[in-house]
Amino acid sequence: MRKKHKRPWGVFLAIILAILFGSFVGKEAGLFGVSFYSVFDIVGTIFLNALTLVVVPLVSSSIISGIAKIGGEGGFGRLGAKMFTFYIGTSLIAILIGLLFVNLIGPGHSQIAPVMNATDTAQLGQLQAKGVPTEGQTLIGVLISIVPSNILSAFTKGEMLGLIFFSLIFGYAITKVESHAAGILKGFFQGIFQAMIHFTHIIMKFLPYGVFCLVAKVFMVSGMGSLQSLGLFTLTVLVGLAVFMFIALPLLLKYVGKVQPIRHFKAMFPALVTAFSTSSSSATLPVTIDCVEKRAGVSNRICSLVVPLGTSINMSGSALYECVAAMYIAQVYGISLSFSTQFLVVLMALITSIGVAGIPSASLVAILIILRVIGLPLEGIGLFIAVDRLLDMCRTTVNVFSDSCCAILVARSEGEEQVLATDNFESMER
Ligand code: ASP
Repeated sequence: MRKKHKRPWGVFLAIILAILFGSFVGKEAGLFGVSFYSVFDIVGTIFLNALTLVVVPLVSSSIISGIAKIGGEGGFGRLGAKMFTFYIGTSLIAILIGLLFVNLIGPGHSQIAPVMNATDTAQLGQLQAKGVPTEGQTLIGVLISIVPSNILSAFTKGEMLGLIFFSLIFGYAITKVESHAAGILKGFFQGIFQAMIHFTHIIMKFLPYGVFCLVAKVFMVSGMGSLQSLGLFTLTVLVGLAVFMFIALPLLLKYVGKVQPIRHFKAMFPALVTAFSTSSSSATLPVTIDCVEKRAGVSNRICSLVVPLGTSINMSGSALYECVAAMYIAQVYGISLSFSTQFLVVLMALITSIGVAGIPSASLVAILIILRVIGLPLEGIGLFIAVDRLLDMCRTTVNVFSDSCCAILVARSEGEEQVLATDNFESMER
C-alpha cells in the first residue's frame, strides 16, 4: 500500500526539478564535455520509443480480443453514437470556453506588431514548406486513412485509424470462425493484450526518469522567459484549459456519469504526467488504456474502442488552443471578427482538431488551415511559436483526460457500475 503512494510524489518531484534545472542550466551546460541536453535527449527519446513500441500490439490485441469476446452481442451502433456525441460535445465545450476567455482577456489587443526572431521564422518556413493542406484535404485524408490498403504498412507506420478499423473487423470475423480455431485465436490475442499491459507497467517504472529528461529538455530550449514575453496569450490558453479540465469535465463526470471526479483524476494520474512530459497523446496511449481499464475499471469492450479512437480524433485541448490562437492573431493584426466569422473559427477548430495527429506540435498545421480559411496572415503563427511546445504539454494532458472522461461517460451510460466504484486501485490492478 505505502509503496503505491510514493510514485506520484516521485513524478511530481521529477517535473519540478526538471523545470528548475532546465530553466536555470540552459542548453549549453554540460559536464566533462558532454552536454546535459544531449544526455536528456537520448534518455527521453529511449523512453518515448519504449512507449510508442507498445502502441500497435496493445491497441490491436485489445480491440481484437474485446470484439471477439462480445462480437455476437451487437449494440455497436448505439456505442458508436454515444462515443461521437461525447467526442463532439466535449470538444465543442472546450472551444467555446477558449472563445469566451480570448474575448474576455483579449491577449492580442495590447500587442501591436509581430515580433519574430530568426528561429521562429525558420520554424514557420519549415511548416509552410511542408505545404498546408486545405480543410477538405484534412477531412478526406482522415476518411481515407480509415481503410488502409496494406495492413502491414498501417501497422509499421502506426496509422491508428486503419489499425482500429482492421482490428474491429478482424475481431468480428473471429466470432464467425468454427469454435476450436476461434478459441485459439481469442486466447492468443488475449495473451498478447495481457502481456502488453505488463510491458507497459515495466516501462512505467522508469516514468520519473523519462519525465525528468523530457521536461528538462523542453525547458532548456524554451525557458521561462518565452512564457513571460507572451504572458497574456499563455494565460488565456492556460485558464481556458484549466476551466475545461477542472470544471467542465468534472461537472460532466459528476452529473452525467454520476462518479466522483476526484477518483478519476487519481486513476488517470500516470497517464496525465506521461502526456504532459511527452506532448504526445499517441505515445501516452498504452498508459491511458492501462489507467482507464485497470484503475478506473472501465470494461475492455468500451475502453478498447473509446480510448484509441478518442486518441486519434478527440482532441479537445488542441481544439481550444486552435480557437484561442486564431482569435489572438486576429486581435494582434487589429482585424475584428464578426459573430459569423467567430462561428466559422469554432467550426474550423472542431473539424481540424479531428485531423490533428497525437504528436508534438501537430496543432500548428491545423492553425495554419484556420488562418487561411478565415483570411488571416499565416505568418501570425510566428507570434506564439516560441511558447507552442510548453503549451503543447498542457493541451496534450487535456486531450488525454478528455478521452478518458468520454470512456467513463460511455461506460456509465452502458450501466457499468464498477467504474470508479473505489479509489483503491491496487485491488483493481492485476
Ligand atoms: N500534441 C498534441 C497531442 O499529442 C497534439 C497537438 O495539439 O499538437 O495530443
